[in-house]
Amino acid sequence: MNARAFVVALDGPAGAGKSTVARAVAARLGVEYLDTGAMYRAVTFAVLRRGVSVTDTVEVARLATVIDLEISSTSVMVDGVDATAAIRGREVTDAVSAVAANQAVRTVLVDRQRAWVAARGGGVVEGRDIATVVFPDAVLKLFVTASPRVRAERRVAETGGDVAEVEASIIERDRRDSTRDASPLLLADDAIELDTSDLDIDEVVAEVVRLAEERRMQ
Ligand code: C5P
Repeated sequence: MNARAFVVALDGPAGAGKSTVARAVAARLGVEYLDTGAMYRAVTFAVLRRGVSVTDTVEVARLATVIDLEISSTSVMVDGVDATAAIRGREVTDAVSAVAANQAVRTVLVDRQRAWVAARGGGVVEGRDIATVVFPDAVLKLFVTASPRVRAERRVAETGGDVAEVEASIIERDRRDSTRDASPLLLADDAIELDTSDLDIDEVVAEVVRLAEERRMQ
């Protein structure tokens, strides 16, 4: 990786407010934003669409290599098909952890994430393993969390549903993401932990921008 790339890494569990913070921080810093979760979701979408089983690790990894992925801040195209809405749906959400646990898929997507940053000289990158695996030299590493209940309430406010059910599914996805062998969700040693449960998102954004500007000057 380019040591001079200006990368702000934002990791954390589902629904902690990472995407909202990452988008706003990128806009304020005048850099682009990459949602790596959307990449894992896009591969999952391609797998389901072709009727491939997520347990067929070899075929899933092959698909991750060959599919054409175009991820922008507003849309996700998979082999020319607009998958922006479908990748957030229940089917993909339920299957994505299995795809993300596939080490061969991770290797392909990590390469794609590094290429994305190299092409832009940096950016705000959000995911689970950005500070620990993808960009261990990121200038700023943040681990964004919130309680499962708060995360479920936020998700329900956005997409509807039952808070208790969404909370149970969040707890289950956290468990799978943090106990898997391949790049589990972990707090990097030098990451700053931000619990957004009781914080106003605007305050979080302002604080992250301040920290990033400070590092940019160094
Ligand atoms: O962030 P989001 O919830 O959209 O991510 C979907 C899934 O992709 C996560 O549950 C996790 O399993 C996986 N993921 C990952 N590594 C990343 C980003 C997402 O394993 N860097």
